[in-house]
Amino acid sequence: MCIVCKNMFAKNDLVRVVRNKQGEYLIDTTSKANGRGAYICKNKDCVVKCCEKRYLNKAFKAEVKDEVYANLKENYELIKD
Ligand SMILES: [Zn+2]
Repeated sequence: MCIVCKNMFAKNDLVRVVRNKQGEYLIDTTSKANGRGAYICKNKDCVVKCCEKRYLNKAFKAEVKDEVYANLKENYELIKD
C-alpha cells in the first residue's frame, strides 16, 4: 500500500524505502533489503507529496533527512517512463 494515497498497488508499481539496523534509509530497488519498509507508488503526485509533506517521517515515526527525500525523487526520475 502506498503511504501517501493509501491505494493498493502491485509491488512493481511501488518504491520501497527501508530503514536498516544502522538507522540508515535506503531506496530498496531489489525489494530484498532487511528492515522496516515503507512503500510509495510510482505516481508523480505521490512522490512529490511524500517529499513535501514528509510522509516518511510519519511512516517511520522518525526525522527522515532531506537527502533521503532527495534520493527518492532522484530514484523516481530514473524509473518513470
Ligand atoms: Zn500513491
